[in-house]
Amino acid sequence: MIEIQNLTKKYGQVVAVNNISFDVKKGEILGFLGPNGAGKSTTMNIITGYLPSTSGTVKVDGYDILTHPDEVKKRIGYLPEAPPLYRDMTVTEFLRFVSDLKYVPKKKQKGQMADIMELVGLTDHRKRLVGNLSKGYRQRVGLAQALVGNPEVLILDEPTVGLDPKQIIEIRRVIKALSQERTIILSSHILPEVSAICERIVIINKGVIAAEDTPDRLSQGVGQVLKLNLTINGPVKEVISAVRKIDGVTYMDTTGKAPDGGNRFILEGVSNDIKEKLFYAMAENGWPLTEIKPSIMTLEDIFISVVTKGQEVR
Ligand code: ADP
Ligand code: MG
Repeated sequence: MIEIQNLTKKYGQVVAVNNISFDVKKGEILGFLGPNGAGKSTTMNIITGYLPSTSGTVKVDGYDILTHPDEVKKRIGYLPEAPPLYRDMTVTEFLRFVSDLKYVPKKKQKGQMADIMELVGLTDHRKRLVGNLSKGYRQRVGLAQALVGNPEVLILDEPTVGLDPKQIIEIRRVIKALSQERTIILSSHILPEVSAICERIVIINKGVIAAEDTPDRLSQGVGQVLKLNLTINGPVKEVISAVRKIDGVTYMDTTGKAPDGGNRFILEGVSNDIKEKLFYAMAENGWPLTEIKPSIMTLEDIFISVVTKGQEVR
């Protein structure tokens, strides 16, 4: 449904998005995860046609955003980072205004607006001025405007930012309900956020894609990401340098002395035969390996490892 190929965006010298590619299938909810400044909003602004790319292509439902911007925009509802809400209109007035902008036929507007307000939980607030609503309800208005015209694709940029935990749960519920018949990209810099709602996660950092998988597989590490707690009776520096030479090891460092006189280490790697190679490497050097304890990488670990160290979780 959404195809992004070799997308790059430069602001002057700053490369905000650097040659990224990914697809979103019809009906999928994709989490677009990354720390602040990673390039999420830039990417979303390009997909929705609000910002031109420097190079690369974006297609929505087969239409290229460059050559068929209207076809693309018709299919997309966008909740930008700072949605332009008219504070001195009531909720109903604002949604009618957006309906006109999106050429929703007058005859259909009333029914559609009622459905949307019901869906996002705004019906009881429809006569209130947008400017007088709480942040959580204003965010619902933002979501509601994205839904006007009943677009097949929703692009939601950090939809829960600034909300309290109760509002977050509510908005999540709304997004889940929306996902039944739509394709959604949802950005966030908070991991549990996307793992709770999304089927697949693309992690972006410094403008490049650092990982891409299901939340489950990202946290299991697909059997690829391995994190081991080790105790080795050997000299710290030499052990570290020997282990770092093993194929597939991405990280090795000491965590201090073990009570039995050995040294403790943490090893991370991306291959399953690391344990065997480790065993032989230590044996060859005469450094007894007295403990190997696998530790399960949480999604949080993987996120940190991905955004701090680059590319290894692929
Ligand atoms: P995110 O949404 O992931 O926080 P952004 O897409 O907003 O990231 O920003 C990506 C990078 O591009 C950041 O380094 C940011 O400072 C830079 N950037 C964003 N917008 C502009 C702009 N209009 N002019 C110059 N640099 C920008
Ligand atoms: Mg942003």
